[in-house]
Amino acid sequence: MAQVQQQSSSADGVAWDLDGLYRAVDDPQIAVDLDAALRRAQAFEDTYRGRIQVDGGPSPSLLLTALKDLEELSELMDKPAVYAGLLHAAKTDDPARGALLARTREQGTAINKHVIFFDLEWIKIPEPDARKLIDAPALAKYRHFLERKRARRPHYLSEPEEKILDEKAVTGRAAFVRLFDETVSSMTFPLKHDGRTELLSMQQINAKLYDPDRSIRQAAAAGLTEGLENNARLLTFIFNTLVHDHKSDCDLRHFADPMDPRHLANEISNTVVEALMTAAESHHATVQRYYHLKRRLLKLDSLYDYDRYAPVFAEQPTCDWPQARRIVLESYQAFAPEAGMVVQRFFEDRWIDAELRQGKRSGAFSSSAVPSVHPYILMNYTDKLRDVMTLAHELGHGLHQYLSRPVGYLQCDTPLTTAEMASVFGEMLTFQRLLELYPEPRTRLALLCSKIEDGFATVFRQVVLTRFEQSMHQARRDQGELSTDQISALWMAANRPMHGDAVQLTDGYACWWLYIGHFIHVPFYCYAYAFGELLVLALVQKYKQEGAAFVPKYLELLASGGSDAPHVLLGKLGVDVTDPTFWELGLRLLQGMVVEAEEMAKQL
Ligand SMILES: [Zn+2]
Repeated sequence: MAQVQQQSSSADGVAWDLDGLYRAVDDPQIAVDLDAALRRAQAFEDTYRGRIQVDGGPSPSLLLTALKDLEELSELMDKPAVYAGLLHAAKTDDPARGALLARTREQGTAINKHVIFFDLEWIKIPEPDARKLIDAPALAKYRHFLERKRARRPHYLSEPEEKILDEKAVTGRAAFVRLFDETVSSMTFPLKHDGRTELLSMQQINAKLYDPDRSIRQAAAAGLTEGLENNARLLTFIFNTLVHDHKSDCDLRHFADPMDPRHLANEISNTVVEALMTAAESHHATVQRYYHLKRRLLKLDSLYDYDRYAPVFAEQPTCDWPQARRIVLESYQAFAPEAGMVVQRFFEDRWIDAELRQGKRSGAFSSSAVPSVHPYILMNYTDKLRDVMTLAHELGHGLHQYLSRPVGYLQCDTPLTTAEMASVFGEMLTFQRLLELYPEPRTRLALLCSKIEDGFATVFRQVVLTRFEQSMHQARRDQGELSTDQISALWMAANRPMHGDAVQLTDGYACWWLYIGHFIHVPFYCYAYAFGELLVLALVQKYKQEGAAFVPKYLELLASGGSDAPHVLLGKLGVDVTDPTFWELGLRLLQGMVVEAEEMAKQL
């Protein structure tokens, strides 16, 4: 860690109140709840083991009682860990909080051991018997939960095989993932500028790519490349190992395509994903058109990879916390008073932690916590207009999580593809409001450019990352272990079509795949971002067309949480993600934003 700076902002004093969960790190109720959860889990096992997987399946009433039990005890079991996680995120340098987090996690695992049998027994029930239970009216509330559990059924191995794989994964896949994380977080990158060399962390050197000064961006790009090249042998080996491990896993579990396990978890078909990616790729001209505009705005002869994140104007207005609070609240209120009321509670009841604090986790998130309490938001507010968008983003998650509480703990979470729906939608509402509130042409253009660039990062870049990942898995399959240069060639080949002649990719850029954690943590994670963003842009279009009629349907969609597959829930809004032309709606909106930016630039 570099030297620590004590920062402050207009959000000083805006800290969350976690009393809804527990009172303090040493609250005796934490141990009481963990003990109670353990006893309930043991009783659950005593009551139901051997009674789920029976001839003809259990009776609907027995299964219903078991599910209600499971739901209650899962919440009881997770509540202390959720609290510890939030406490820790707010101050990671407090050892007492770290210790509580470790303790609640360990105890959670011990409790969980008593309930694992339930899933296994449920999955083993023959299909016709299980189908009858899934369709039973008494079990309607848990239908999708039951259905989803069984979706992986064809890919489960025998119990002893599963146990062995699970056990060996600790020293196999999981060990390589940890080695990757620890390597990347301890890597240093030399920033050589003005005759001095500074050693920076990954996060710090990446931040320098956003610097208004081109020579600093150039130095940052060179430093990033140098740091990555210094570690290329180890990182390449980790990539090779994990890609091969994924292949073995797919073979053992009878998945034909390396993307199939992810599609299954996302409740989406390969056809839909391919249609989404092809549609995005047909709009590369939009990306290039924007980068040509950016080059002109930056007054450069050529735009290089290290210029992509440069701010279009160095100076930007600031926005203090009270003003941000007002802007975001008004945006949600104007959309729907009901949404506004929920958002207001986040501020008034102190469900948000926004101040800068030594040891606080960077970035932002909204935790759904547990349905019997309410969500909590963490962010680091630094008075930038960007932070206003982050606040709107996290409140979108918070609204989604708050509204879906009645669906219950087992079904409130959505798959990745729709997880970012409410957050990005909320951002769009606030973005429109900001454009109205900041009429100064350069500010408006800067806001629009940053929105376009965010859209590109979540749509086109993620499709490029997915294409690269596909080609890497294929090449590893066909050619065996790959060299850094071989993978770098695949990376450049995946990147070129999007950048075209609008962005010059330097030689150093070739190894910038080496630090992307998504490839390591969750193979084929990236397309879900593109799905979510284009879905929201289409929803924004629908809202524009339908006006007030759209609002109750949208809120109902949020309230349904993960109680059905995304395409089913979205179907109720008249959105058909299986229609290959569907993605054009969002892509055209992005294109329209680029045209608008060009117009604004002409007026300057
Ligand atoms: Zn988010």
